[in-house]
Amino acid sequence: MPQLIAGNWKMHKLRAEAIALARDLRAGAGAGANLLVCPPFTALAAVADILAGSRIAVGGQDCHPATQGAHTGDISAPMLRDAGASHVILGHSERRQNHGETSEFVREKVVAAIAAGLTPIVCVGETADQRQGGAETETVGWQLSGSLPEGFAGIVAYEPVWAIGSGKTPTEDEVAAMHGFIRAELARQFGDAGRAVPILYGGSVKPANAKALLGLPEIGGALIGGASLIAADFLAIAGAALGG
Ligand code: PEP
Repeated sequence: MPQLIAGNWKMHKLRAEAIALARDLRAGAGAGANLLVCPPFTALAAVADILAGSRIAVGGQDCHPATQGAHTGDISAPMLRDAGASHVILGHSERRQNHGETSEFVREKVVAAIAAGLTPIVCVGETADQRQGGAETETVGWQLSGSLPEGFAGIVAYEPVWAIGSGKTPTEDEVAAMHGFIRAELARQFGDAGRAVPILYGGSVKPANAKALLGLPEIGGALIGGASLIAADFLAIAGAALGG
């Protein structure tokens, strides 16, 4: 399977900027990796229109577990679908930290996303303190068992919290060890289906380190924050990915 290179635009880009970036990506995307961009909600439909019929899919950055209701400021999985999304990022560390999202709440969102026909990308990862204390696999293990519902069919992203936006990355050995652990956990939880779940790496992936990280075992692709905001950088990372 080709690797997936996914861009998380976070709270960046006004609509005109998002449209310009989407146009540049559409014009520059070569064959090879699968590509996905996750714009802010305000730009999602416009970006989906620009990318319709292209090789680049569109996703949301979060959704609420309910399909509709009195949830001010939230957005539902069917709304994301309606706006042109095929994927949704769930349980990103910025949601877990800034919005107090627990793994149990993330699991409810995953169920809602799958019910709406979206592919969830479920983020897990340890803090610097947890790694320094030797608790990284235990932390990720709890996040996986708490966040993934029975029969999970989606994508997992390993994103060490301390590597996000910091310019720091784990060593290649550390990434390979964690991805091996996640693969074993997925197989334990879901059997054969767990062996097919793509596991992305995320955290300060740049054109300069993409080839080395994407070449490690059990890497199904990458989730990119900062470097996904610049078309040339995102496309360079995509060019380093394995096309399958
Ligand atoms: C992210 O927040 O998902 C991320 C990977 O960010 P960055 O690439 O900027 O570290």
